[in-house]
Amino acid sequence: PTNYLVSRLSLGADQTPKKVFATRPGLSDVTYAELFQGAQQLAQKLMGAGLQPGDRVAVQVEKTLEAVQLYLGTVLVGGIFLPLNTAYTGAEVAYFVGDATPRILVCDPARVSELTPLAGDATVYTLDKAGAGSLTADLPALDPSFEPVARGANDLAAILYTSGTTGRSKGAMLSHKNLASNSESLRDLWRFTDQDVLIHALPIFHTHGLFVATNVALLAGASVVFLPKFDAEAILNAMPRATALMGVPTFYTRLLDSPRLTLEQAKNMRLFISGSAPLLVDTHEKWEERTGHRILERYGMTETNMSTSNPYDAERRAGTVGFPLPGVELRIMDEGAEVAQGEIGVIEVRGDNVFQGYWQMPEKTAEELRPDGWFITGDLATRDADGYVTIVGRAKDLIITGGFNVYPKELESLIDDIPGVLESAVIGVPHKDFGEAVVAVVVPADPALTLNQIEAVTATQLAKFKQPKKIIFLPELPRNTMGKVQKKALREDYSSLFA
Ligand code: ATP
Ligand code: MG
Repeated sequence: PTNYLVSRLSLGADQTPKKVFATRPGLSDVTYAELFQGAQQLAQKLMGAGLQPGDRVAVQVEKTLEAVQLYLGTVLVGGIFLPLNTAYTGAEVAYFVGDATPRILVCDPARVSELTPLAGDATVYTLDKAGAGSLTADLPALDPSFEPVARGANDLAAILYTSGTTGRSKGAMLSHKNLASNSESLRDLWRFTDQDVLIHALPIFHTHGLFVATNVALLAGASVVFLPKFDAEAILNAMPRATALMGVPTFYTRLLDSPRLTLEQAKNMRLFISGSAPLLVDTHEKWEERTGHRILERYGMTETNMSTSNPYDAERRAGTVGFPLPGVELRIMDEGAEVAQGEIGVIEVRGDNVFQGYWQMPEKTAEELRPDGWFITGDLATRDADGYVTIVGRAKDLIITGGFNVYPKELESLIDDIPGVLESAVIGVPHKDFGEAVVAVVVPADPALTLNQIEAVTATQLAKFKQPKKIIFLPELPRNTMGKVQKKALREDYSSLFA
């Protein structure tokens, strides 16, 4: 009996213990052996603190190598890793801790007095942005050899809360096999090997940075340039000795703002991957002009890990998220049946990647996870004749005005193409006659942009019912740390426009 996930993630450490896993600007390198030694000591520490298999370890800390070791250590001791966004307030942490009842809570020392009263029965440890704190203080004294606690394919390794874009965050229960199988598929599809150096600038409280980036690097025996957060200059500095970058779309738009992003600077890179939010076609094209690389866009979510990806060798089609991953079934459904090619419906996926249900939400789980394994993602999409999937938005963002469906993406694409527009978000707000009214929030790229310029296009290109009843200019769209546009916040801001 072995530990299903860690036995796979530690293959690189077994084969090449002296190889550097992480380089860190300004800090010492960390070898594979050191990574897992620290993880084993943390496992020892957690066991000493009374952690039993199946217990949750809730973690709200800055991004450090020690936090990665805490993830591995938790899984090694049979626990369930539960990372929390560092932006969450005390009230939000209280909700997650109340919901997940962890045995242990690890937080930043700066917040320990605020969070301890909210921790319930959990024992609280600290870990700061330098990796120091009560969690790691006595590690050197602990035995670095640790017999992994046996866990099988279907045991839980993590509970990851969704981003809360459409409503209250839900805890997605992820098994050892969910995580291992998906990262293995991605490693193979994206051709990650021990020759790769991945720039790791994503947060590790989210599936993208924690599972896609970290697990793929570990499974490939690759190295990472471990950056504590997004920093365009640090990423540009790393490029000449790196081979791959995983980012959210805002990484790419911000990197494009730097004059240092050139063909020469990106010469050593072989792969740029984007996901977690839609990548504008414009960004894709500008990136290719500047670097000679076509960004590879993929699609996934907390509940399913990654589900689709553009191909590595064949055409990476801008604006699409490519094809289902090997081993992932995907269908696009409307009213109980698969839609015809080119029609819009809700994506459903099935496979080893799909989660085990929402933590303590059996009704929600029953609504979204069918008994035969199909998961209803809530994302609207179409599939073209070549099989490429295009996300057109979320079912919850669909606007129904006067009984007609309006897909925000159609308007956003049209508006984004108007010269002088940087980007836009189209939302539905309550309206006494129409139920919902279409509102377009537009971010100008050119300060001289006028409402008339937008109206001239929408009034001629769109059916009357789709035309925005109001156009609002904003300096920027509200986004969370993963670059996701917060339409919920926009709908709240403009809820009384027509009420
Ligand atoms: P919540 O479920 O709490 O409302 P969330 O869905 O934003 O939050 P995540 O699981 O972090 O939480 O995000 C998954 C969602 O991100 C997907 O359902 C999809 O809407 C969006 N997404 C991910 N990748 C892409 C992509 N490449 N293009 C468009 N949308 C994407
Ligand atoms: Mg979601």
